[in-house]
Amino acid sequence: MEAFLNNLPKLAKDKHKDNKTFFTKLKKKPPKQLDYIMQELHEEEFKKTDCLTCANCCKTTGPLFTDKDIQRIAKHFKQKPQQFIDSYLRLDEDNDYVLQSVPCTFLGADNYCSIYDVRPKACAEFPHTNRKKFQQISNLTLKNVAICPAAFNIVEKMKALIK
Ligand code: SF4
Ligand code: SF4
Repeated sequence: MEAFLNNLPKLAKDKHKDNKTFFTKLKKKPPKQLDYIMQELHEEEFKKTDCLTCANCCKTTGPLFTDKDIQRIAKHFKQKPQQFIDSYLRLDEDNDYVLQSVPCTFLGADNYCSIYDVRPKACAEFPHTNRKKFQQISNLTLKNVAICPAAFNIVEKMKALIK
């Protein structure tokens, strides 16, 4: 996994043009069974990908925290939402709450998330490859393939499958 992770930014860069062309075409004419295809590809990939040997998403990029996330996690820490915000979050250029720093402060040395049961929705859904209408998040996916080995593999399989 480590060698793949080290190589991933370069691999993703090499595929970027191809991927962009593929997603532009996909957006124009998504196959009827795209939701089903993505579900299958996602499940197949995550059967063999062990996120605990990776955690690259938690190490290199953080989630957006919605109001609901903040309320839920603050409650978990028995804090007021504002206290939680002051301790861990900042507003980004789009006015969304994000982590003050990465790797995520809730990530343990063993790659376990210390707030797993109450983690942000964006963490639970990352890399969003089983999302319905997957073609709508192609810009995000173009970025995620450089971070997430599973997303990279899924997009490669999509390209082979959907012509
Ligand atoms: S979701 Fe992707 S980047 Fe995150 S730990 Fe799993 S394989 Fe790694
Ligand atoms: S909250 Fe948990 S799952 Fe989300 S980035 Fe931090 S360690 Fe990873």
